[in-house]
Amino acid sequence: MEDEREKGKRVSALIVDDDEEIRASLMERFQEAGYFTDVTPNGKDAIDKVKEFFYNIAVVEVELPDMTGLDFLKMIKNIHPDTSVIFITAKPSLENSVSALNAGANAYMMKPLKMEEMMEHIDEALDRQRAIIETRELLFAERKKREFYQYLSIIDGLTDLYNHRHFYELLTQEVARSARYEHPLSLLMIDIDDFKRFNDSYGHPAGDKVLQDITRLFKENCRRVDYICRYGGEEFAIITPETSGKNVVHVARRLVNKVREMKIQIYGSSIEGNLTISIGLAGYPADAKTKDDLIIKADQYLLEAKKSGKDCFYPSSS
Ligand code: GH3
Ligand code: MG
Ligand code: MG
Repeated sequence: MEDEREKGKRVSALIVDDDEEIRASLMERFQEAGYFTDVTPNGKDAIDKVKEFFYNIAVVEVELPDMTGLDFLKMIKNIHPDTSVIFITAKPSLENSVSALNAGANAYMMKPLKMEEMMEHIDEALDRQRAIIETRELLFAERKKREFYQYLSIIDGLTDLYNHRHFYELLTQEVARSARYEHPLSLLMIDIDDFKRFNDSYGHPAGDKVLQDITRLFKENCRRVDYICRYGGEEFAIITPETSGKNVVHVARRLVNKVREMKIQIYGSSIEGNLTISIGLAGYPADAKTKDDLIIKADQYLLEAKKSGKDCFYPSSS
């Protein structure tokens, strides 16, 4: 048995013809060209082989004992659209050749076969095949690149949260949805308390790590449908669709408590003390009717929370 990987590197060809002499002469020529070559007298066996392995080229008799070459072509194109098919026949007809080429065959050749002509058809088919595969790979890479840039344009590099710009888009979309279905929505504006002092004491890299830890904590304590965004430096915004009143107060309380309880680990060791956050929470439509007013309101409430001593949320009942 030939090594599968070795097989994959070489041009591979499948010969499907019930005429033993034709099979032998094609096999000889293909092996001379260095192709990995398989032969079979009938369509069913050929289809089994095609299911197992990708052949670059299939040379197929138009009239097989168990099916027509055209049927075989349709089946092989279903399994491996890239395989090039060359039909061979002792009884050529214009109608048959037109149907074969229309169905995606690369060439239609008369018996007795002229081997050099066959090799020219194969070279041409292989060139086309490579060009198609390369173009597809290029398009795929382009798409991946576009998706990646799209991702970068909406995601914050430090925390992997939605960035400021995307926050606006999400809020616009969610306020519109809430208006359309007459459902409530809340916005939590969150700011870390005295974070400047933290940075001054432990340095910016430590501050960056804490921003990531707090992000994780937010993710663990919000629902999957909530949008957690990095609004700016040490400020976060969370949009909670379908949530208002007591439920959003519950979320705010949980976040404030969880951050206060969070053990702060820097450079592998815990530090004394803790960080806290303040939250302003505003609801649509109770507090504001537009997204801009909702942000203004949540910001005002955040300021109220700061004024009343930080480490809390405002209003404390909604
Ligand atoms: P307050 O309780 O009033 O919010 O005080 P504060 O110190 O948190 O607020 P202030 O606005 O005075 O300072 C915010 C600080 O957040 C300034 C900056 O050092 C820090 N900060 C903002 N963005 C980042 C960041 O990406 N990484 C780090 N490490 N620190 C940041
Ligand atoms: Mg701030
Ligand atoms: Mg702050």
